[in-house]
Amino acid sequence: MTSLNDTLRSALEHALGLDGVMAGDAIGSKYHVDWTGKAPCRPALLLRPRSTEGVAHALRLCHEVSQPVVIQGGLTGLAGGATPRLGEYALTLERLTGIEAIDVDSATMTVCAGTTLSAIQDAAAQAGLQFPLDLGARGSCTIGGNLATNAGGNRVIRYGMARDLVLGLEAVLADGTIVSSMNTVIKNNTGYDLKNLFIGSEGTLGVITRAVLRLHAAPKERLTALVALASFAHLVQLLRRARAEFGASLGSFEVMWSNYYEFAAARVLSGPRQFEAQHPFYVVMEIESLSPAADRDKLETWLAAALDEGALADVIIGASLADSARLWRVRDAAGELIPSISNPVSYDISLPIGMMQEYLMQVQRRAAPLVNDLGVLIFGHIGDGNLHLVAGLEDSARAEELDEIIYSALAGAGSVSAEHGIGTLKRAYLKYTRTPMEIALMRQIKTTLDPCNILNPGRVL
Ligand SMILES: Cc1cc2nc3c(=O)[nH]c(=O)nc-3n(C[C@H](O)[C@H](O)[C@H](O)COP(=O)(O)OP(=O)(O)OC[C@H]3O[C@@H](n4cnc5c(N)ncnc54)[C@H](O)[C@@H]3O)c2cc1C
Repeated sequence: MTSLNDTLRSALEHALGLDGVMAGDAIGSKYHVDWTGKAPCRPALLLRPRSTEGVAHALRLCHEVSQPVVIQGGLTGLAGGATPRLGEYALTLERLTGIEAIDVDSATMTVCAGTTLSAIQDAAAQAGLQFPLDLGARGSCTIGGNLATNAGGNRVIRYGMARDLVLGLEAVLADGTIVSSMNTVIKNNTGYDLKNLFIGSEGTLGVITRAVLRLHAAPKERLTALVALASFAHLVQLLRRARAEFGASLGSFEVMWSNYYEFAAARVLSGPRQFEAQHPFYVVMEIESLSPAADRDKLETWLAAALDEGALADVIIGASLADSARLWRVRDAAGELIPSISNPVSYDISLPIGMMQEYLMQVQRRAAPLVNDLGVLIFGHIGDGNLHLVAGLEDSARAEELDEIIYSALAGAGSVSAEHGIGTLKRAYLKYTRTPMEIALMRQIKTTLDPCNILNPGRVL
């Protein structure tokens, strides 16, 4: 007798080819868990479509028998969303890759969802333009994952989130319907903006298969400075002044509290300290320049004046590409260092700048009994109101107590997820950022688009 599972598997093999369906030990461990490493689970089957039609065919078959499916991009997600749960199939976009077209005059690029972010950045650069979305996982994360999570990164202050860099999108609904909304123009006010339903919905409403991306002019040079500051008030003042002075060319303004900076610098920098003394705050500032000689003069003069006035405690200006990479090194090290902490936990929250100090004081005080000697390390994209908090738990069984401290203090003020998404790990805390009405409406949309609840079930909602 043939079981329902065998029938479905044969139909999927017929649709995707024998190499398009994997089972058992053939499914490598990389498909068992995302970057969090939490609760790994081998998917019951791994589906590897090569085309939008393949995705549609596979979902139609799963939908007919209510088989749950988790969507996988590069598995660099930090919210548990791409990690399979017991009995789920995984659908990976790893074979749906490639850049289909670049239109230099309209500054657009059409890509398949499984293409890595770094391949897209490189292709844009070769065309003399840039795709400005940038994050530490660029070599592994996929554009489909970036859009599904509405990724942020280091240049949000200048270009916005992933959502702001998309003109068109193609997605496949749970029942296999292909929704092609591959708009290529900036101005298009014709009814509901359907692409934004899928962007940021973390694979719960559809599988993103292709996208039209918006490109920007490439700077001739990125000028980098590492600034040390004496207080939070100096930090906020510097941000305000940098915005006023450099306007849209302020490409990054990344802040490190001294506890994160000292922890990371000791582990990733060789040679002498960057600054002789320790300072309470450090900022990596980047100016995107179309006239490097003039802008370098302007940056140096501006920073020198600020130093003379006492607005800065110290500053290093990168003189070369290698220098800039070194100035970014400590900030960029977060992803590689977190796993070296015992019982690590990390948070990605946002709140208005004016509320940050009080929030952090409260969190540090309440978290102290739960975390080890490192305390709560802090860094982030302060211009976007986004902070990352990292700590090592004394007792891993008390993770939820720390979650509650960090998230409940944001109620009504900020967001429990600034850029990484909700996934499975923050689902219980969505209530601190979204009202019951908003959550009910999200559920209604989910039920309309995925009535059998087969796409990424249990993620977000
Ligand atoms: C070192 C490091 C640095 C990082 N820095 C940042 C940062 O600065 N900013 C930031 O925002 N994030 C950052 N991240 C998190 C992560 O890289 C992003 O969330 C990224 O966008 C995930 O892409 P992915 O392809 O790996 O997606 P995955 O991890 O595979 O999936 C993430 C979610 O999207 C869904 N999904 C994936 N592909 C699709 C698709 N085609 N259609 C529908 N749903 C899909 C999955 O089901 C899952 O819910 C970082 C991660 C690491 C490891």
